[in-house]
Amino acid sequence: MNIRVSDIKQYFYCPRVVYHTYYTPVTRPTTHPMQIGAVQHEVLSVLERRRTLSRYGLDAGSRQFHIALQAESLGLSGVLDLLIQTEEEAFPVEFKSTTQRLNLNAKYQLTAYALMVEECLGQSVSQGFIYRIPTQRITPVPISETLRRRTRDAIQQIQRMLSDEWMPPPTSQRGKCVECEFRRFCADVL
Ligand code: SF4
Repeated sequence: MNIRVSDIKQYFYCPRVVYHTYYTPVTRPTTHPMQIGAVQHEVLSVLERRRTLSRYGLDAGSRQFHIALQAESLGLSGVLDLLIQTEEEAFPVEFKSTTQRLNLNAKYQLTAYALMVEECLGQSVSQGFIYRIPTQRITPVPISETLRRRTRDAIQQIQRMLSDEWMPPPTSQRGKCVECEFRRFCADVL
């Protein structure tokens, strides 16, 4: 079963959100923050084309923006914001419209892109970057064995959950439910 990279992030937020995304017929409106985030991504993509790679600690390399990846063996697809390639290796970059501290969800998502780059393009990835747009802060993220293993585990758990059509328990952090668009389908959290 093929899933999307964005499902991994949602899964670590609340696994049931992923279940509802696939099996509950809800029209998901585009929110104002989502619209702002999309514009910020586009503006940054234009600006980054003109900049050097020194802020990534690199002297040279090629750049591809919004690269679509589909890894058959992982059953995973997604669109990566930026891929930097040198002769030696590749560096996935995710743009984030946030000023908050990086959480693990973002690192798992970046690792998923690293795994796809390795499978689809055959280049090794030892490190990726998360670019927080509002502060223009670029954070290197080593793609460790632990991140790889946990990301692979999450991919398999999501695929199993969806193929079995099994609705997982609700999140234990019920504050997340307050403004959740799927709340009316989670009668056990009310
Ligand atoms: S209402 Fe709560 S448990 Fe249900 S999907 Fe949303 S966050 Fe998860």
